[in-house]
Amino acid sequence: MLSVAIDGPAGVGKSTVSKLVANKLGWHCLDTGALYRAIAVACLRAKIDIKNIEEVKALLNKIVIEVKFENGIQHTYLNGEDVTKFLRTEEMDMLSSVTSAYKEVRNSIIDLQRNLAKQENLVVEGRDITSNVLKESKNKFYLDATAEERAKRRYKERIDRGEKVNYNDILEDLIQRDKNDMTRKVAPLVCTKDSIKIDTTSLTINEVVEEILKNVKLN
Ligand code: C5P
Repeated sequence: MLSVAIDGPAGVGKSTVSKLVANKLGWHCLDTGALYRAIAVACLRAKIDIKNIEEVKALLNKIVIEVKFENGIQHTYLNGEDVTKFLRTEEMDMLSSVTSAYKEVRNSIIDLQRNLAKQENLVVEGRDITSNVLKESKNKFYLDATAEERAKRRYKERIDRGEKVNYNDILEDLIQRDKNDMTRKVAPLVCTKDSIKIDTTSLTINEVVEEILKNVKLN
């Protein structure tokens, strides 16, 4: 099976770009952040102390995360319930960024990600796809942009959705999540040597998509 692996920091536009790339290729797109977010939802609902690894471990034994593509769109399930609509909140941004640092959390969903990529050609986006999950992929990309530019994009996205948000809070959140993701011991966010790095700061979404498609090897 073929894959396109895309990593990069929070708010860089990975989800949008990855979905468009998948669309062009006629493939599905796997958003792996959704899996970490679903685990965060489980932690929140169980009211456990996420700083306590023993509590997190006990919870991992009780949950099953699944992914189904329905009409081409990813739906993420927690113990049989479609939790997709609960994943994209600021609370889950932070919770998932903390719990994803535990190796037990990461190990609990690695086979799921790899199995999905074994079943079909897939665009997979996240933080450790190029460095860990799909190390063998022939198509690896790292998207980057300054924290200020990413915060600006996130701010606009949320204002457009009618949410009340503060730019400085968003910027601070992004910087904190970058720090969590880049400095954790297990599978930190890195740009691997064999990834094509694209600085998206002054590029449009379509330009980034084109740049990726231009470099994707399909044989
Ligand atoms: O990409 P997204 O913002 O939805 O990811 C949520 C969180 O999940 C990230 O902040 C990161 O800590 C974690 N994550 C990860 N590895 C991935 C995808 C996401 O650690 N492959």
